[in-house]
Amino acid sequence: CGIFAYLNYLTPKSRQDVLDLLLQGLKRLEYRGYDSTGIAIDALNSGEEQAILLIKRTGKVKVLEDAVAEVCLGQDYSLPIDTHIGIAHTRWATHGVPSVVNSHPQRSDEQNSFVVVHNGIITNYKDVKTLLVKRGYVFESDTDTEVIAKLVHHLWQQHPGYTFGELVEQAIQQLEGAFAIAFKSKHFPGECVASRRGSPLLVGIKAKTKLATDHIPILYAKAHRPHGQPQQQAFPVLPPGDCSAEFQPLERKEVEYFFASD
Ligand code: GLU
Repeated sequence: CGIFAYLNYLTPKSRQDVLDLLLQGLKRLEYRGYDSTGIAIDALNSGEEQAILLIKRTGKVKVLEDAVAEVCLGQDYSLPIDTHIGIAHTRWATHGVPSVVNSHPQRSDEQNSFVVVHNGIITNYKDVKTLLVKRGYVFESDTDTEVIAKLVHHLWQQHPGYTFGELVEQAIQQLEGAFAIAFKSKHFPGECVASRRGSPLLVGIKAKTKLATDHIPILYAKAHRPHGQPQQQAFPVLPPGDCSAEFQPLERKEVEYFFASD
């Protein structure tokens, strides 16, 4: 399967640009084979909490592309937006049949509070699911992935002060298996969290200026990045490693990120 995430603060982009980029990213991952596809972007409404729009389909990226065109029909998707974060997935089902509800992004709740795309398998998902069901979570899919979104939501309710990065970090400590994930949340507009264990994760960064360390945190990428790696390299392949290294928080308007895994 493939995951693709895109964050842009570099230049004003429209939703249409973001959608096009996500679909292009998915097409580049098509060679892996897949059975369903999906994307999450910021919905059109604005406000303190940014709603998330999910579009998911079974079949090829072309089917998703048509669905996106249909959803956008009659809406002005050419307007520039403040936050430019989208996550996308082509699925190769391991848990649960290919279907719209089993396709990614998987979500924490009906409000799409936390949505995740995942490459890999969570081997202890049944245990985590049992725990979450006991806490009142109602699962809609048969995937192992859904536990990740719901676990992060559960942690967010327990620890309202945690950053997005801390929530995901806490969650993955309870997960076993291999994964590359990218998260988006309506509670953390302008932020994306990506992480990996075992599965590869590629990160591309375009930065306008030298990376600064003392700015507002907009991104926590928990992927391992070797020290001294050039920052402006496109799609560097991250070698296997732990999830301990962290990208430094960056200034808004300075960067454009791409995350991909297949
Ligand atoms: N295990 C997940 C699922 O079945 C992800 C599969 C994949 O890597 O595409 O939904």
